This record gives sequence, C-alpha cells and structure tokens, in this order.
Amino acid sequence: MKNTIDKLRKNGFLQKEEFIELIKNRNEKSFRYISKLARKEREKVFGKKVYMRGLIEFTNYCKNDCFYCGIRKSNANAQRYRLSETEILECCKMGYKIGFRTFVLQGGEDLYYNDDIICRIIEGIKKNYSNCAITLSIGEKSYESYKRFFDCGADRYLLRHETANEEHYKKLHPKELSLENRKKCLFNLKEIGYQVGCGFMVGSPYQTVENIVEDLIFIHKLKPHMIGIGPFIPHCETCFSEFQSGSVELTLFLLSVLRLMFNRVLLPSTTALGTLDLKGCEKGILAGANVVMPNLSPIAVRKKYSLYDNKIFTGDETAEYNLFLRNRIKDIGYKISEERGDYI
Ligand code: SAH
Repeated sequence: MKNTIDKLRKNGFLQKEEFIELIKNRNEKSFRYISKLARKEREKVFGKKVYMRGLIEFTNYCKNDCFYCGIRKSNANAQRYRLSETEILECCKMGYKIGFRTFVLQGGEDLYYNDDIICRIIEGIKKNYSNCAITLSIGEKSYESYKRFFDCGADRYLLRHETANEEHYKKLHPKELSLENRKKCLFNLKEIGYQVGCGFMVGSPYQTVENIVEDLIFIHKLKPHMIGIGPFIPHCETCFSEFQSGSVELTLFLLSVLRLMFNRVLLPSTTALGTLDLKGCEKGILAGANVVMPNLSPIAVRKKYSLYDNKIFTGDETAEYNLFLRNRIKDIGYKISEERGDYI
C-alpha cells in the first residue's frame, strides 16, 4: 500500500485498478501514511495557511429536483426565501469586518435572479470590496451567462459534477438534468477564465468505489482549481431520506488522495464533514484541506437553506465565533489567512 501511495505522490495519478485497490483496502495505517504525505504536500505549497470563504446562501428557491437535495423543487415543506441585493451587501459588510476576502454566492437555480440582477449584485460587491474575490455557485447556465458574470467581475465558480458516471448520475437526478451538460458547463467555465471547482458527495446513494475512481479520473481530466467533497447526508423530505450518511473516514481518505493528485488545489474542509463529526473541520485540514467556508447568511434564513438534516448552525458571522474558529485552526498548528487565496 505504501508503494502505491508513494507512486500517487510522485506521479499525481494512478491506474484505475490501483486507485480501486487503494480505496478498497484502506485501513488506519494507510490513512495515517497518506494523510501525512498530504499534509507535507499542502505545506510545501501553502505553508500552514488556511483560507476562509464567506458563504452567502442567497436563495433556496430551485427549479431543479435533485433527489438528494433538501431544497429541491418538490419539497413543498421548504420555507422559501430570497435575499435582496441590500441584504447580500450587508452580509459582505459583516464578513469583511472580520477578515473575509472571498464571498461565495450560493443558491438554488432560481430564475428570479436573472442575468441582469446577478450582474448588479456582482458589481455592487466589487464596488464596495474591490480587493475581494467573488465565487458563484448558482448551477448550470449558458456560456453567454457565465461570460457576462465573469466580465462583471466574478472570479470563481463552484459547480460540483456530483458523479462522473452516467448511470449513477441518473439515479441521483431527474431526467431533465444530464451529466453531459454539467460537464460541458465546467469546461465552459474554464474556457472563460474562471477558477473552477467541481466535486462530489461521498457515500451518495448507489455510489460504488468504482464510481469514486471515475470521479477522480474525471477531475484529473478537468484539472480544476478547487474541489469540493463532503459526505452525503440524508434529508428527511427527499427520496433518499432512508439512506445512510456517507462516511467521514472515507471523505478524509479522499481528501488526502486529492491533495496528492493536485498539490496546489484549493480544497475545503466542508460543512457536511463538520456536521457529521464535531471535529470534522480540523480532521479535514489534517487530511490535506486548506479552505474553510463559514456561513455569512443572515441568521433568519440560515435554517431554511437546508440541503440535508442537522446542518451545523453556528454563529459564523460574528466576531466571537470567528475568533473561536481561528483558535480551533491554531490549536492544530495552522493559521487562518486573510488573503484572497487565489489559485497559484
Ligand atoms: N444549485 C447549485 C448549488 C447546489 S448546493 C448547484 O447546482 O451547483 C451545493 C452542493 O451541496 C451540491 O452540489 C451537492 O453536492 C451538495 N448537497 C446537496 N444535497 C446534499 C446532501 N443531502 N448531502 C450532502 N451534500 C449535499
């Protein structure tokens, strides 16, 4: 196993069969080894820095009906909300004060926010906070829309591919959605010049180790700047309410694999990981992650952006909590950076 891990570190890639074996035969010992190498790699490039992104969940309306997602269209019990431009700017203002230099605008695919409105929001943020980066995470759009947002000042785009396997994709999504289009969007975003993030859920229903390896191979082909992975967590109002959560341990192992594949990638220790494990955030960083994404959405709407059950609910937007977070990171020997933290 050690040899395979050394090879992964050296080449940044493995043959399909080797990946499968590495994941299937993982154990405590191989995790200790791979996470140690992953930490070394991340420290070579980023030192002890952990970048902070402020997540603003600005709408939970969604025209899509992804089977796993709590804000899917057909969840009639979701209390829907939209933030106004003023409210979004207010989130940025609070975030800026406590050191955030990246704002992530995430939402369901909500056509109320047409391209003009999205551009106005981007321009509004850039006017007030010109030294900050804007990341969009608003789903699948046309090339032209992506281009407009980029020309208005958006810097990065997060669009998890969710799974790189056609069959598996169909088991997670209604027939209106296609993996082909999702991938196309990712390549369009890259072509336009965004820093692009893809990713997938670990332990989503029907996922096999072979599927995960297909994800790794797809990611290798895309060469993204950011990769978001977190455990699947069921939501009570979805088709998958009876499924089990994904494994924290496998998520951590995969974070280390990804760090060895892409030593410069921006890799968050995700909220879903922190939801399943009280120390998930720290464990993610120790496995090779170098980004945290605290929530800056207004308290009043926070619970309504419920993608899965029991999402952690902390006072992320407050100076007190931010200090607490900084201390948690410091306690494991790392340091929150107040830089924009672009891909280098
Ligand atoms: N509408 C945007 C944002 C989606 S929400 C888009 O289409 O990209 C962001 C991510 O949350 C999704 O990409 C998905 O991977 C993750 N997510 C959704 N439901 C989840 C669940 N039940 N458990 C864990 N992660 C989930």
